[in-house]
Amino acid sequence: MSRIYLSPPDISSLDHVAVDAVLTSNWVAPVGPHLESFESTLADRVGRAHAVALNSGTAALHLALQLLRVQPGDSVICPTLTFTASANPICYCGADPIFVDSEPNTWNMDPVLLELELGERAASGELPKAVIVVHLYGQCADMDPILAVCERYGIPVVEDAAEALGASYKGRPAGGMGAFSFFSFNGNKIITTSGGGMLLADKGSWIERARFLSTQAREPVAHYEHREVGYNYRMSNVLAGLGLSQLDDLGRRIAVRRSHYEAYHEALTDLPGVDFMPITDPDAANYWLTCLTVAPVAGGSSRDLIISALNAADIEARPLWKPLHLQPVFQDCASIGGDCAEGLFANGLCLPSGSSMNAEDRAKVIAVVRSCFSGPTA
Ligand SMILES: *Cc1c(COP(=O)(O)O)cnc(C)c1O
Repeated sequence: MSRIYLSPPDISSLDHVAVDAVLTSNWVAPVGPHLESFESTLADRVGRAHAVALNSGTAALHLALQLLRVQPGDSVICPTLTFTASANPICYCGADPIFVDSEPNTWNMDPVLLELELGERAASGELPKAVIVVHLYGQCADMDPILAVCERYGIPVVEDAAEALGASYKGRPAGGMGAFSFFSFNGNKIITTSGGGMLLADKGSWIERARFLSTQAREPVAHYEHREVGYNYRMSNVLAGLGLSQLDDLGRRIAVRRSHYEAYHEALTDLPGVDFMPITDPDAANYWLTCLTVAPVAGGSSRDLIISALNAADIEARPLWKPLHLQPVFQDCASIGGDCAEGLFANGLCLPSGSSMNAEDRAKVIAVVRSCFSGPTA
């Protein structure tokens, strides 16, 4: 019996054929036609004019902040309940993150807190240089009020859509809303290129400059001429071939992950103290991970007990993201609110949700979770 993972890479025979075709074409080092095709296909899919494929989502966010001229002395707002990669690039630019709490409806950044904070900072002349919005676990943040308040203060929004490829908000695709947006194709994401990311925007000059910076800021002359410090952030053409093939399969992946969410919900929602992550529009989420919270005592169970029971059955489950304002590395950073995110972190977990998991394995997960609630001393 092999371990059941949270969200392992899902590689099909079509992916093998696609990568083999790239290798056969010899477009290996480093750029080539598959890169352009991956960029334009994904940009079309999310209604963006321009895109550049990079070697990670983190690199994409770093370039976005560079293009927005984020520098030492600046601040950038970011939700607290997210993966550290949503905030690290703020520090690469020498700027200071300001963490904002979640709201209970989507677990994403609270638009009311954001508005209050921007109002106060506008009054004291300390507006942030950018706002990063994360679409956590494949569900979009409440973008209308967030975009409206940022527009009022003239602050660009960067959408961290790393977990949200294929999701949407009121009919608009995730990754199609902010000044910049980016996706991740890390191994655990809904599609993968083993590692990779993409930066998107409607402004062509921004993406052109991001492409330039991502390839060592090499001037377009025959000898190697450099006027600026650049990065080695470009995706390889081989991985773009894999990305294209994975992207082709996105619809099926979302459908399978959704079926996991629905099966978990049906089988577990009656358990005492169990609450699933609220889904505001069932057709708008991509169901990247099924997440739920478990009240600490009410059911005679708890989040940690469930995770250990699953682990003992060789099933991977994890707590929700640890809020960044609680992370030692960010302990000196400003943070607005935090109770909602802290509560979610204390009681929340993610269940195995991969698009390669079958119904039999899912039933195993369900049985172990239910067993944690069966006896008074369970
Ligand atoms: C995965 C992830 C990232 C970073 O993407 P990488 O490709 O791993 O650099 C950023 N933000 C969120 C919310 C993520 O889940």
